[in-house]
Amino acid sequence: MPDLFIDGVWTEGKGSLGDDVINPFDRSVVRRVDLATPEDVDAAVAAAKSAFDRGDWARTPASERGALLHRVAELLVRDKEEIAHTETQDTGKTLVESRIDVDDVTAVFRYYAALADKDPGRIVDAGIPTVLSRVVYEPVGVCALITPWNYPLLQLSWKVAPALAAGNSVVIKPSEVTPLTSIKLVELLEEAGAPRGVVNLVLGDGRNVGAPLVEHPDVDMVSFTGGLTTGQSIIRASADTVKKLAVELGGKNPNVVFADADFETAVDYALTAVFLHAGQVCSAGARLIVQDSIHDEFVAEVARRTERIKLGSGMDADTESGPLVSAAQLAKVEGFVASAIEEGARLVAGGHRPTEPELADGFFHRPTVFADCRRDMRVIREETFGPILTVERFSDEAEAIELANDTDYGLAGAVWTSDMGRAQRVANALRHGTVWINDYHPYVPAAEWGGFKRSGNGRELGPTGLAEYRESKHVWHNTAPEPLRWFKG
Ligand code: NAD
Repeated sequence: MPDLFIDGVWTEGKGSLGDDVINPFDRSVVRRVDLATPEDVDAAVAAAKSAFDRGDWARTPASERGALLHRVAELLVRDKEEIAHTETQDTGKTLVESRIDVDDVTAVFRYYAALADKDPGRIVDAGIPTVLSRVVYEPVGVCALITPWNYPLLQLSWKVAPALAAGNSVVIKPSEVTPLTSIKLVELLEEAGAPRGVVNLVLGDGRNVGAPLVEHPDVDMVSFTGGLTTGQSIIRASADTVKKLAVELGGKNPNVVFADADFETAVDYALTAVFLHAGQVCSAGARLIVQDSIHDEFVAEVARRTERIKLGSGMDADTESGPLVSAAQLAKVEGFVASAIEEGARLVAGGHRPTEPELADGFFHRPTVFADCRRDMRVIREETFGPILTVERFSDEAEAIELANDTDYGLAGAVWTSDMGRAQRVANALRHGTVWINDYHPYVPAAEWGGFKRSGNGRELGPTGLAEYRESKHVWHNTAPEPLRWFKG
């Protein structure tokens, strides 16, 4: 079956270009997919616009739009195993993580299904008895949804579920590295009854497919998740057509451990904070910031446990971490390791590719820990997006907060302490969009997700994640109009 979905039809697209999707575990070809051309992008946008302007979806009662999302959730439950396997083949992450992803995606669809009709607008007191003033929420129009490769299905769900709940038409463009579960989700949306033209899918890279979408005059909104540099170019490129934008970018996330934290638990979470999905997580706790008095013992234990992390195929039950997603990502990680060593960081674990022959064909890198890191180092300032943990030390609360906030990013962070007063003070002081206290990574669909500073300028999830896809309209109804006689003649 062809892989592009335009105006309700699966199609190869105009160019009939194709691309191999690579399994990062062994570089085998999972499948060849069709690629869109800029003409296909035009066709997809035209279909979305026509569906928005002339179709019923934007005017369908919100409860019915919610019912469609509920049906998608049921189909996700039905096909969970198939989807999880595809995600693992495509990204390299473990099957356990992929299954959690599918459960999370299902929860996101259910959340927005339930929220769709909950907030239709409000009556405003205009202060004039004969005036009826109300604010209503309307869909934005044609939304381009551009997603990254680390959580292909999950990131798409955070966009497509609220966008459809709000009544928009969408053109989806997944990462060219990991398109497979996005294709599957569009199949499920079709099966659930999404009207023709409301959901469109184009595949390809940023230059040939992403950029034409962002520049397209008939695209009203771009919702983007990806890297900082790409986000900056999207913000610039959307200026001419003054698009509504929601951008979720990178992170350089501090994980602050005070001496009074439970030692064993904090060590354990220091590993999951950074090494889940081989560190390819926007909110990865890549900067471990540890109080002086426990620093040496803490680092030694983190290093010891890091050396024991078992790498392997995401399909094997005993694998603890899979490969990086691509050769480019592996090269990037190796570049960061070299620069950290050059700048004087002390390597205490990993730092190289694995030596097992059975991993030789995959894009593997050993989980790596650097101690004695300074905040001016490149490995501290930039997002590595790989299995690299850096360690810095602090002496008191003020210094911990200062270090944790000394980053251009502001996506997420954590604090570990048994002092409840300190926990709240530090959480309040951190300039990051999500703060965990004595935990790392959990999120719920009902709570907003997004970044301060260069981590982005929108919010996903929660009611704000739906509001991103709506325009507010004020309707003023004078029920007893009379001449004003402002002009006397
Ligand atoms: P990326 O920026 O390279 O690509 C993201 C998407 O943008 C891809 O679909 C790509 O094809 C497309 N793209 C590239 N150039 C484009 C252009 N000029 N115009 C339009 N589209 C273009 O990011 P990536 O490497 O796929 O993903 C990793 C990044 O995503 C990391 O920085 C990570 O922190 C970030 N991320 C952030 C969050 C969050 O919630 N804030 C979540 C997941 C990932």
